[in-house]
Amino acid sequence: MMDYSEFFNRELERIKDEERYRVFQNIERLAGRFPKALWYPEKAVEQKEITLWCSNDYLGMGQNPEVIAALQGAAEQFGAGAGGTRNIGGTHKPIVELEHELADLHGKEAALVFTSGYVSNEASISTIANLLPDCVIFSDQLNHASMIAGVRQSKVEKKIFRHNDTAHLESLLREQPKERPKLIVFESVYSMDADIAPIARITELAKQYNAFTYIDEVHAVGMYGPRGGGVSEREGLAADIDIIEGTMAKAFGVLGGYITGKREVIDAIRSIASGFIFTTTLPPALAYAARVSISHLKQSRAERELQKLRVDQTKQALAESGIPMLPSETHIIPVSVCDAALCKKASDLLLQKHSIYIQPINYPTVPRGTERLRITPTPLHSEQDVDKLVSALKDVWQELNLDFTGSLVNPELERYTIA
Ligand SMILES: *Cc1c(COP(=O)(O)O)cnc(C)c1O
Repeated sequence: MMDYSEFFNRELERIKDEERYRVFQNIERLAGRFPKALWYPEKAVEQKEITLWCSNDYLGMGQNPEVIAALQGAAEQFGAGAGGTRNIGGTHKPIVELEHELADLHGKEAALVFTSGYVSNEASISTIANLLPDCVIFSDQLNHASMIAGVRQSKVEKKIFRHNDTAHLESLLREQPKERPKLIVFESVYSMDADIAPIARITELAKQYNAFTYIDEVHAVGMYGPRGGGVSEREGLAADIDIIEGTMAKAFGVLGGYITGKREVIDAIRSIASGFIFTTTLPPALAYAARVSISHLKQSRAERELQKLRVDQTKQALAESGIPMLPSETHIIPVSVCDAALCKKASDLLLQKHSIYIQPINYPTVPRGTERLRITPTPLHSEQDVDKLVSALKDVWQELNLDFTGSLVNPELERYTIA
């Protein structure tokens, strides 16, 4: 007879042996104090003030007074929940207006909001691939788990191209019959490697081989482009991409995912995507707050500019101290540790000794041997915070005897070599 408890305990042991066990830090973010927060260690009685250095609230919009007031006001006015799915009583005015705001952000005809970016990718990619007859998907090797979930769920044929390798992508496209429907799915900013896709070349190939394009701009919306429309806006390429997907949970600081595109495409997905239809709509207050945040960042560049300044200062200071970083052309700074146990240890030391919170990034989020600390400076970090971060990292590097320069240990992954 199956002993279920014993089974799960054994599984947990295995996960721990493989250094895959995840420890979530319990923190209390206090409005107005970001990037400071309170940390509640599991066994200790007392909380401790820490500085967050791994938040995806990239611009601090989650604590923007205008956004908080919008959320509060809308909750007073419209109540707590949406009261239904989009299909049955849940299509409320704030979500319809939010969709207009999003379509405008990307210069597209229409938008569709989902309960998260994860759901938007899973539901949209699988629906598009299933609708197109005999579709074949071309998917970047480092695509996010939610995009992989969409590809898998569609059950159509897939070709994985090497990360950002357009020559490889072209060779895969060329193998297919010209008339066969093709879907290329990729991201703009890859958040674990901090690099950017060659979007212009991918859209050229898509034109040449008549492929439909789907880009995930989750780590770019709000931060890139003159109105926060992402890298596709910055590079003037938004019109060349069929679907632009994003989230309202990262730089916009609230919650929810979305897609934008041509009216007929969005309408088709709206009509049949299970992950869109059979779930309750985002609450009106969240939709309203998200819209205020998006609209604020369309006009205000102060947040983006200060973020860029802090990112540059942090990169510069880390480079001077010899802390090994992956080359980054973005707001994300991956610091290489290249060992799962040491990465966890470095993170623990930072938290316990220096009151700095940076979650270790281990397998399966990144390949084994490329474990890292992923640092995200925001406009709310001060220059003093940056100084403290760098001296804390130096101290931890010395204490754990980590490499100050040099290349990463996994020779197969040459793109992980430090510049
Ligand atoms: C976080 C993330 C998502 C999911 O967005 P949520 O709104 O957090 O569900 C999708 N794609 C990428 C690349 C992400 O990093």
